[in-house]
Amino acid sequence: MLMPENEVDETDCCGNGCTNCILDNKPKPSQQALLAGKRNVILSYAKFKMLSNEMHNGDAQLRLLHFVYVASDDEENDGILDIPPGHHVMLRAELAGHAAPLLRPYSPYWTDFVAKEFKILVKLQPGGRMSDYLATLEPLQVLNFRGPIGNYVHDSSSPKSIYIIAQGVAIAPTLPLVAQVLDKEDDMSCIRHLICVKDLDHVYFRGRLLEFAQYWNYRSCLYLAHQKCSCGAVNCDELCVHLKKKLHYNETARRLRLDAMQLAGQTISSDQSGSIVIIAGTSIFQRAMREQAIIAFNLSNKNIYLL
Ligand SMILES: Cc1cc2nc3c(=O)[nH]c(=O)nc-3n(C[C@H](O)[C@H](O)[C@H](O)COP(=O)(O)OP(=O)(O)OC[C@H]3O[C@@H](n4cnc5c(N)ncnc54)[C@H](O)[C@@H]3O)c2cc1C
Repeated sequence: MLMPENEVDETDCCGNGCTNCILDNKPKPSQQALLAGKRNVILSYAKFKMLSNEMHNGDAQLRLLHFVYVASDDEENDGILDIPPGHHVMLRAELAGHAAPLLRPYSPYWTDFVAKEFKILVKLQPGGRMSDYLATLEPLQVLNFRGPIGNYVHDSSSPKSIYIIAQGVAIAPTLPLVAQVLDKEDDMSCIRHLICVKDLDHVYFRGRLLEFAQYWNYRSCLYLAHQKCSCGAVNCDELCVHLKKKLHYNETARRLRLDAMQLAGQTISSDQSGSIVIIAGTSIFQRAMREQAIIAFNLSNKNIYLL
């Protein structure tokens, strides 16, 4: 039986305890779709054909997957694809030998509203069920996705200090969050993009970050917990001549973990009333960073969004 759009039940939940569970954040018609007078094609499970499955950063475990919507033969061309920044989609796969479909959430880092295409960055987990399936996918195979799932909405008419904290591959869904602010000339919000990774080899989308850095209202800092440096010090930053050689022009980096003290050093404005913090990463990372952000900026939970 086909479920009406927007309906969800327990079988739609992947059971992984996502912060923004589909049961609490039903896919709902987007403002953009309503304004365009069109249907958002992904509101209930829809077919998407894979256009490419490429390695990222020279790492075979990291895949950039690109999908395009497949319309049914009798469907009018009246749809758009709206996955707002900060929202994720649910992939449902029917795997051989498994009675129930396998559900896993993924966060697009690029979407084309009109062409109905999106891209995700996937870190394949050794022994992971969906990872094993995705690793062998060939272009033109068709998968089922549903969404958008999430609750973050950016209001460009009210300028804010936005702190975006990203861990590892979870930098991917933070890119559209940054772009939606920078792409709008009259958006006066300021962004601090704080990227937590093992070392420089694990900074993904570095080129994109350098493009963002050309905007007056964007600054980033790389927190490299395990980066080695020939200076021999326990930690150093972009002022170290040895580390500087490995950085691009104007890149800032610290060879340590992000904590409340480091966060406080990134303060955009002394008036924190209009500040929000967005955290992308594993649930353990999100909880730890939320604690640090509360200490550093004296914010309440309602100003902190976990993706
Ligand atoms: C909101 C949200 C958005 C997400 N977005 C992305 C994204 O954009 N990109 C991305 O790569 N991931 C993303 N994830 C994670 C993603 O949904 C999956 O969890 C991930 O791809 C692993 O799924 P899997 O089925 O391959 O692994 P699983 O089968 O779930 O296994 C995960 C790990 O546990 C191990 N494991 C499994 N079973 C056992 C067991 N019995 N004993 C010991 N170890 C075991 C596996 O070997 C594997 O390493 C997101 C998660 C959330 C909550």
